[in-house]
Amino acid sequence: MAKEKEHINVAMIGHVDHGKSTLIGRLLYEAGEIPEHIIEKYRKEAQEKGKATFEFAWVMDRLKEERERGITIDVAHRKFKTQKYEITIVDCPGHRDFIKNMITGASQADAAILVVAADDGVQAQTKEHVFLSRTLGINQMIVAINKMDKVNYDQKRYEEVKEQVVKLLKMVGYKVDEIPFIPTSAYNGDNVLKKSDKTPWYNGPTIFEALDTLKPPEKPVDKPLRIPIQDVYSISGVGTVPVGRVETGVLKVGDKVIFEPPGVSGEVKSIEMHHEPIKEAYPGDNIGFNVRGVGKNDIRRGDVCGHPDNPPTVARDFTAQIIVLQHPTAITVGYTPVVHAHTAQVACKFVELLKKIDPRTGQVKEENPQFLKTGDAAVVKLEPTRPMVVEKVKEIPPLGRFAIRDMGMTVAAGMVLDVTP
Ligand code: GDP
Repeated sequence: MAKEKEHINVAMIGHVDHGKSTLIGRLLYEAGEIPEHIIEKYRKEAQEKGKATFEFAWVMDRLKEERERGITIDVAHRKFKTQKYEITIVDCPGHRDFIKNMITGASQADAAILVVAADDGVQAQTKEHVFLSRTLGINQMIVAINKMDKVNYDQKRYEEVKEQVVKLLKMVGYKVDEIPFIPTSAYNGDNVLKKSDKTPWYNGPTIFEALDTLKPPEKPVDKPLRIPIQDVYSISGVGTVPVGRVETGVLKVGDKVIFEPPGVSGEVKSIEMHHEPIKEAYPGDNIGFNVRGVGKNDIRRGDVCGHPDNPPTVARDFTAQIIVLQHPTAITVGYTPVVHAHTAQVACKFVELLKKIDPRTGQVKEENPQFLKTGDAAVVKLEPTRPMVVEKVKEIPPLGRFAIRDMGMTVAAGMVLDVTP
């Protein structure tokens, strides 16, 4: 039996209209993942229109037309295979829920493809997304300088835009030497799967090749057990079944577990994944597990399951580094927006603004600032209005990142530096 390929989540990021969707479509198409019935339908249409060849551009245009007519076609499973990996394209920053999903772990990205149009160069959202990716801990990146067809595959223009991107990535703290820069046309398929003969001056990898140089995420099995609870079911004949994703550590049948903040404990009687019983669950596994001694109403979404000898940390307050993404006025002490961390959503009060910092170097720009505005990075102290589990990002990364939401938008993103239990 063929060995299952390792899985990598990749976020497609970049300024609006620079070609993210087109590149996603192109990757799926080249990997043979556009459903056969859709291909067949479009092939027929192409023939009827007297087209000799049937190209990706044709598929994209038809898909776009259908979308515009309100027909959604599901090419959205967004999974494809390279030589080495199974890749899932996750939503990109800028899409409303990305940051939240990224932080809650629903779409934790292991790497990003940054799309920058060769004609436009670096734009506002390019910067924003790069910045966000860094904050969210996406350490691996591939840069596609896209729409090369629009600049006649000009090497000089490519180098110019590459320089802009290098500057930006360095500023935010990426190691640019490890990042492949690739001149592409998502529309025409240049340097996506196959090397393009239109860029003879380019000797680097294609997008598919670059994807295969990514490092798979490490499985944090040696860290303490943390399972943020997504839902709690009560199943007759079984009992209480919390559901969630193992973020760190290993859960075994027979383990004694504790749920924080409520502090209730029980014993794991069974674990199930994809409707199959399993004996042990590892990081990344989405599981339901039956716990004896815990009632359905004892625990809820946002609680975190761990082992009693190293239980999840309930924070009285916590210190965090945040980046203010968008706030119409200013953040001051007393501001109490909602913090989204793992599966928890808890209103937290800004009790101290400790310092404003340079997001790229961490150098202090101002001690005890009076307020924070959009674009500011700062170290602050937050106090949850009810008990909540967070962990230091250095120790348990998935439980150390959060988004701050207010007024229907993501106001800030942050990382937990220290916790007062
Ligand atoms: P997104 O907003 O970043 O997802 O951008 P889209 O993928 O929707 O692309 C925006 C527009 O640019 C669409 O009209 C695409 O057809 C076009 N486009 C995308 N990639 C290329 C490319 O490589 N070359 C050219 N000429 N146009 C492209």
